[in-house]
Amino acid sequence: MQFFSTRDYSRKVTSSEAIAQGLSGEGGLFVPESFPQVDVEALCSLEYPEMAAAILGQYLTDYDAGFLAQATAKTYGDAFGGKAGYLACVSDGVYALELWHGPTCAFKDYALQLMPRLLVEAKRNLGRTEKTLILVATSGDTGKAALDGYHDIPGIEIAVFYPTGGTSEIQRLQMATQEGENVAVYAVRGNFDDAQTGVKRVFADKEIAAKLAERNIRLSSANSINWGRLVPQIVYYFAAYAQLLHAGKIRLGDEVDFCVPTGNFGDILAGYYAKRMGLPVGRLVCASNKNNVLTDFLRTGAYTARREFYKTSSPSMDILVSSNLERLLCHVTGSDTEVASLMRQLSEQGSYTVRPETLAAIQETFACGYAEEDEVAAEIRARYEQDGYLCDTHTAVAFHVAARQKREGTPMVVLSTASPFKFPRSVLAALGHAAPENDFEAMRALEEATGRKAPASLAALRQKAERFNTVIDPADIARVALGEQMK
Ligand SMILES: *Cc1c(COP(=O)(O)O)cnc(C)c1O
Repeated sequence: MQFFSTRDYSRKVTSSEAIAQGLSGEGGLFVPESFPQVDVEALCSLEYPEMAAAILGQYLTDYDAGFLAQATAKTYGDAFGGKAGYLACVSDGVYALELWHGPTCAFKDYALQLMPRLLVEAKRNLGRTEKTLILVATSGDTGKAALDGYHDIPGIEIAVFYPTGGTSEIQRLQMATQEGENVAVYAVRGNFDDAQTGVKRVFADKEIAAKLAERNIRLSSANSINWGRLVPQIVYYFAAYAQLLHAGKIRLGDEVDFCVPTGNFGDILAGYYAKRMGLPVGRLVCASNKNNVLTDFLRTGAYTARREFYKTSSPSMDILVSSNLERLLCHVTGSDTEVASLMRQLSEQGSYTVRPETLAAIQETFACGYAEEDEVAAEIRARYEQDGYLCDTHTAVAFHVAARQKREGTPMVVLSTASPFKFPRSVLAALGHAAPENDFEAMRALEEATGRKAPASLAALRQKAERFNTVIDPADIARVALGEQMK
């Protein structure tokens, strides 16, 4: 299996190169040249780690199969407490795919607990000995998941950039208290898009690359623009299907719809790959918060990033430039020049419009909707009071949209992307309780109000020392990459 750039099909690389490099040289994203067709029934008989190894093996063809088996066994065993890809029944025909049983309590652990192993092996496959410097822009959850995955991995350094005031206090502390000799964390003035644009600029800067090369350092990315981030996420769509099958809720071949709380369009795109590989996915429902740029796009074909930015209670979805949409456009249009032109319009004018045929093709698979802030809170309360199901703010966005897109007779799986205890103040307030200012007191109050236990890793943050408190401007990200001291 080869991978090519969305903006230049002549740039082909192996999976090891795609993972080691992250982004293609001219700014495009790597996509697989084809969609491998799989035996769904056979896959559904496998345990999560074996299923992951089988699916990864379809794409990472220059990796050793034994390595993949071992890496997935190590990643999805103990670290997920035996709950990798766990599907909970919420109400009749509605399910929650709980993706937050990993170490940092958000779905990003699925990719970022595995990525360090994939990267180290990619370098081995390629015979590379340089140091890898990973730059991560985060709206909250990616940063911690990446830090947890990459800390103290030999040959790798990681710097994380999050928007000041753009994360929950728990999310901020998860990052600021990170241990490890090879990690650094910076707050960036601005919003997530400012941080992401700053990081993308560094990746595109040939001068920086040359300076780093002199010191035997190479840049890489842990954001979902990296193929290594996407491929592990395909697995849990199969796992959800397998559980519905085993529970007798569906028969082999029946369609299942998925509703995904979406920011950078990575998680939902993994569902698109699952569908193209032969999993009977009906519709993929894209759920947005008040930053509903994707809802507008999926309805009209016009993508308009130049618009007001809202800070919401689901910060990991506060994104106006959804990077992975570029991959979908590539698969639907089949034209590198067309995608390159759309992306140029996006960076120069802040918007683009796809052709009507392109929109129609996308709408065959993708439905959409969004939730206002009061609807998110009402959804948290409704799910708890009516179904006894406690969910976080991001998942609530998806539940709200899922209810409006539910098709009679077709199961709806909502991707539950974070633990409710990661956003305790918002969840507590939604349940109608007075929320304390302090996140840890809110966590305890939420435990008392619901009788559920906060994940140990979150409760333990209170005792940890903060190591990082530097605030920088987006333009300083380049200086950080070059190793200049920031105060
Ligand atoms: C990152 C994140 C999302 C959005 O996922 P994308 O792949 O960026 O679309 C949704 N919910 C939570 C909790 C997240 O951390």
